[in-house]
Amino acid sequence: MLPFKLIYDDRYDLNLGVHVFPSQKYRLVHDQLLKEGHAASEDFLAPAPASDEDILRVHSQEYLYKLKTGSLSHTEIMRLEIPYSKSLMDACWLATGGSILAGQRALLDGWAANVGGGFHHAYPDHGEGFCVIHDVAVAVRRLQFDGAIQKAMIVDTDVHHGNGTAAIFGADDGVFTFSIHQEHNYPYPKPPSNIDVDLPDGIGDDDYLAILERHLHRAFEEFSPDILFYVAGADPYCEDQLGGLALTMEGLKRRDAMVFDYARRNQVPVALTLAGGYARQVADTITIHMNTILGACKAARR
Ligand SMILES: [Zn+2]
Repeated sequence: MLPFKLIYDDRYDLNLGVHVFPSQKYRLVHDQLLKEGHAASEDFLAPAPASDEDILRVHSQEYLYKLKTGSLSHTEIMRLEIPYSKSLMDACWLATGGSILAGQRALLDGWAANVGGGFHHAYPDHGEGFCVIHDVAVAVRRLQFDGAIQKAMIVDTDVHHGNGTAAIFGADDGVFTFSIHQEHNYPYPKPPSNIDVDLPDGIGDDDYLAILERHLHRAFEEFSPDILFYVAGADPYCEDQLGGLALTMEGLKRRDAMVFDYARRNQVPVALTLAGGYARQVADTITIHMNTILGACKAARR
C-alpha cells in the first residue's frame, strides 16, 4: 500500500508516565496511520535491537557499560531528563535497530521511515535531553562498516540544535551535518555542524522556508551523499512547549516537502526519523509526524 516500509515496534514507547515527552507518540502515529487507512499492517517492519557492537561504533565502552548495568550516576540521569529503566534501555536499542533498518531499506527502496528515533542530543560518552543512544549516528556508522555507503548527510530540522550529531561527526569528512534550529534554546553549547542555521525566536513559515531553501541548496552544492538521514522534529511548531518558533502545520508540511524534493532531485535515498515534538495537544504532534511520513510517500510516488 505504501511506497516504502515503515519501521516500528510497540516497545519504542519509553513508558515515561506523565512527562513533557509523550513517548506514547510512536504507538499513536502507528495506530493513526492504520486507522485512517494510510497504511496496512504489511507496510510495517519490526526492527531487531541494535547489537552492542553497532552501538560501540559511536558510543564509548564505559557509557555502554553504565547503560547496561544501570550504573549511571545521579548527575548523568539528571542530564538525560528521563528516568532510567530496563524498558528504556530496550526501547533505545530497538529504536537504534530501527534506524539501521531504515537506512538499509532506504538503500533498497529509495525511502524508509523509522516511526521513532532521531535522538540527536546523545554524545559518545553521555546522553542528554531525552536522548540516550544516537540512533542515526549508529546507523550511519553501520552502513559505512558494511560498505553499503561511503558518505551520508544528516538534515536535522528539529527546533533544537543537533549537538550530538555535530560532536560525533565534527571531524569526519564523510558525513555532512546540517542543523536548522532556534538559536536561543537548548542545547548549550552548540558544537559546529557543517551547516548551522541559527534562527531567531518566533520565525514563521515563509521566512523559515526561504532560509531553509537557501541552505539546502548550499548543502547539496557542497556535498553529494549516498544517503540522507532526515531528523524531522515536530517541535518547530507554533504550539510546541519546548520550542520558540512559529511554524504552522502547513509550514511544516512544506518544510518536509522541500527536504524530500532536494533528496529526490539529487537522487539520494532518504531514511527518516521522527525526533522531538512537544505540542500542547499531543494530537498535534501525532499529526505533524504523520504528515512527515505521508509527505515522504507523496515524494516517493513522484
Ligand atoms: Zn527538539
